[in-house]
Amino acid sequence: MSQTTDLLALMPDELESFMKSIGEPAYRAGQLFSQMHRGISPDRMTNIGKATLEKMRAAGAHFYLPTVRRKLVSAIDGTVKYLFALEDGNCVESVLMKYNHGNTVCISSQVGCRMGCAFCASTIGGKVRDLLPSEILGQVIAAGADSGERISNIVMMGIGEPLDNYDNVIRFLHLVGAPGGLNIGYRHISLSTCGLADRILMLAKEDLPITLSISLHASDDATRSAIMPVNRKWNIDALLDACKRYYAATGRRISFEYTLIAGKNDSVKDAVALATLLNSRLRERGKDSVPIHVNLIPVNPVRETGFSATDRNSLLRFAQTLEKKGIRATVRRKLGSDINASCGQLRRAEEQKADGESDKN
Ligand code: SAH
Repeated sequence: MSQTTDLLALMPDELESFMKSIGEPAYRAGQLFSQMHRGISPDRMTNIGKATLEKMRAAGAHFYLPTVRRKLVSAIDGTVKYLFALEDGNCVESVLMKYNHGNTVCISSQVGCRMGCAFCASTIGGKVRDLLPSEILGQVIAAGADSGERISNIVMMGIGEPLDNYDNVIRFLHLVGAPGGLNIGYRHISLSTCGLADRILMLAKEDLPITLSISLHASDDATRSAIMPVNRKWNIDALLDACKRYYAATGRRISFEYTLIAGKNDSVKDAVALATLLNSRLRERGKDSVPIHVNLIPVNPVRETGFSATDRNSLLRFAQTLEKKGIRATVRRKLGSDINASCGQLRRAEEQKADGESDKN
């Protein structure tokens, strides 16, 4: 069998080489690139003729977009949660959120996850596989095409650990930022990581000034290692050191996520410890001070984990304690609370359903 070429994985110059290799003019690549990235399959493009399509097919060209397997729309705020099916039948989740400053799509980077965070639904069945660059991009394209909305921001906070699928994520970032395609600016893209410090250092050298979001969730190694196994490999010290270097290389402020779990990490003492840690490691006076921001998120209870969310008062007290110590903190506005919009849970529910019965839609 001849080799297949995943058209959505190609950068404009690569698509141009492909088209030239089958005797087509270079401008065809531009037509293809912009339309494919708007969700139009080549065989539906009015400016690509049958003969061209035939030549592309013979040379192994392949186009696939994730298809909507399930879709939940929040009656409260219009948040849309997608369960997308990939070509091999695996599913991932994406969430489209509407803010005043534009539409944000939250996308997945892997099918499942192998990081093992104790509170997270995505990791329960382990990692099935990495997503291809075209599948990561495909979620953004498919969410935009399905909703008819322009996507202006991307957060990589869905299923999977993006830095554990490093090369594919980097290619995706180049694809989504490419002029002629979705052309989303790197300042409008956030990548969330559980803290693979070595990869953060690699990312710092890519010249892709995206916002780095660190899932910190605890301010001492014992607590963090108990809920996030990754901390046994890259402890808080190594992680914050990588953050400093990321800022030095990119000039981008670092965002920290802190999920509040009742009785585990949500006391005033914990807030003081967090502020002390961030202030002493990142915000010491002088030129090396790193601009930071903390996002507080009450843990979303997942049946299997047994953790429960902090109450409203503890949450506010935690935020105030941080602010008093000079740390900017926001309580994440909960979008789509009626559709369980945190990632990992819809895919799990679907898998359990598939295990119990052979239900196809
Ligand atoms: N692997 C990446 C990105 C995916 S998770 C990471 O760890 O950052 C996106 C965010 O949701 C992370 O901060 C993660 O810790 C958090 N999260 C996971 N499960 C959660 C839950 N049940 N409640 C609240 N936040 C959760």
